[in-house]
Amino acid sequence: MTHDLEEMFKHLHTGESIQTEFYPYAGIRHSIRKRKGKILIRISDTFSEAPQDVLLALGRILLAKLNKSHVSKKDRTVYNQYVASEELQDRATAILSNRKRAVRIMKGNHRSLADSFQRVNAAYFGGSMEKPTLTWGIKRAHRTLGRYDLQRDIVFLSPVLDSYEVPEEFLDFIMYHELLHKKHGLREKGGRIWAHTRQFRNDEKRFYNYEQMKKIMSQIAKT
Ligand SMILES: [Zn+2]
Repeated sequence: MTHDLEEMFKHLHTGESIQTEFYPYAGIRHSIRKRKGKILIRISDTFSEAPQDVLLALGRILLAKLNKSHVSKKDRTVYNQYVASEELQDRATAILSNRKRAVRIMKGNHRSLADSFQRVNAAYFGGSMEKPTLTWGIKRAHRTLGRYDLQRDIVFLSPVLDSYEVPEEFLDFIMYHELLHKKHGLREKGGRIWAHTRQFRNDEKRFYNYEQMKKIMSQIAKT
């Protein structure tokens, strides 16, 4: 459940109009400012599930900060206990870790990831797939030739594929595989998380020259 902050903060009885919202800050932080007689409050969206007493305590703490007045010990305790709680810490880790980790785009030397994406998108997704962030990986991995980061929507391909010695079609095959991860996401079955479901594998086999691609894959893995 997401709270109606505006409604809740009416309980603060400031006599002034308060505009408030949850905001996707990169950390657990909040802000308050006054503009044209109106108070603007932004609360970290990691607090979107916080109990009402916590949000009201936070509201009073922010108002005290704005008015340079005293914060009650009770409000401070309620707030601090919630910040330290496992519930909030878990949510903050999940939400914020992705915001902080900006990806570094690695440029290749020979092959173009953007071109590969375009070919694969046109041939296998009818051009309908939204382009993820594309980057070469840092390690020259021979076994893990590609990886899709679902949370950040990033395809990483091994620099091993950035070579004229590897057929362009094979680069496209790995690109296709990673894009299928974007398409299929993850499935939960029997308490386990599956990425390579049967539907995924069936889709993968639609790749032109699939059998030959598999052979190239095992050759590269051996090198
Ligand atoms: Zn995979």
